[in-house]
Amino acid sequence: MKTLEQLLRPSILKLTPYSSARNEFTGEASVFLDANENPYNAPYNRYPDPYQNELKVQVAQLKGVNTNQIFFGNGSDEPIDLLFRAFCEPQIDNAILIDPTYGMYQVAADINNVLVKKVALTQTFSLNTKDLLAAADENSKLLFLCSPNNPTGNCFNSDDLEHLIRNFNGIVVLDEAYIDFAPERSFLSRLNEFTNLVILQTFSKAWGMAGIRLGMAFASEAIIRVLNKIKYPYNINNLTQQKAIELLKNSEQKDKWVALLLSERTKLENILSHFPWVKKVFPSDSNFLLIKVDDAKAVYLSLVAQKIIVRDRSSVSLCSGCLRITIGTPEENQQLINALNNYSL
Ligand SMILES: *Cc1c(COP(=O)(O)O)cnc(C)c1O
Repeated sequence: MKTLEQLLRPSILKLTPYSSARNEFTGEASVFLDANENPYNAPYNRYPDPYQNELKVQVAQLKGVNTNQIFFGNGSDEPIDLLFRAFCEPQIDNAILIDPTYGMYQVAADINNVLVKKVALTQTFSLNTKDLLAAADENSKLLFLCSPNNPTGNCFNSDDLEHLIRNFNGIVVLDEAYIDFAPERSFLSRLNEFTNLVILQTFSKAWGMAGIRLGMAFASEAIIRVLNKIKYPYNINNLTQQKAIELLKNSEQKDKWVALLLSERTKLENILSHFPWVKKVFPSDSNFLLIKVDDAKAVYLSLVAQKIIVRDRSSVSLCSGCLRITIGTPEENQQLINALNNYSL
């Protein structure tokens, strides 16, 4: 196994990060004349905590990890981008992606001018572990796995995931954005077993906070230190930190939402499968359903005309004829069913 030092871009390894005013001072003080802030307009006048310590204490407790194993980003997009910037030398290094998967990995690779190797899932949407490992070469630095996967909705076999983490000679990024909806356990409880694992989670889905933009990355202290070194100094604003601290106190609410959405998913799964033009409702471990229909475009356009928007995934590999439908409130799901009944006429 390569060491972190061997995997990092040399320029990042030797980087001296920007040191902000709030970085350099730790301790108690009441008069802050160090950051050229306006003394008026509290509380908005102050720069936010660059390392989000209060929020990290709460999340550490909730997730059973140490605060130094947590990185917060402006959505999951930020750690995805930072991982490319930390590990992949443009035009030289590469990342391995499963296909199909979340589109943001490819976009982040493209923005960073990093080559991507795609390895198809099997017809049943499971991991092709042999092909994934065979695709890796000396310059493969990142392997992105998403479980439950978007847009296929399924969790991958945890032995397959473990096999890849143990045998990929680089950093494995395991995106668990939908893990709260899955019967499978998060790899977070096993984080300490793997030095090359980065787990992504988010407040955007089960927690209902997509609007405040807060993503989480969990990894070894050494990897978190690298992400901290290259992030924007004040990447998580005060309003987001405070709102998250407030909403995190209410994790029973999140659990109730998840339970409701899961029961709605089961209901919708059942109803959808009875439409004659629905060829398949794929099993889901997430808060959406992927369905294969006779004519994806026609169903999509009919729904749009009835003011309901779903995601047309029919151009995605292994997903021809497929729509991705997010589970809504019971009322929204009923409206969807009514609209699909109209389509059936
Ligand atoms: C929705 C989603 C996310 C969340 O992204 P944020 O930037 O945190 O809102 C991450 N990964 C996958 C696979 C997703 O579908």
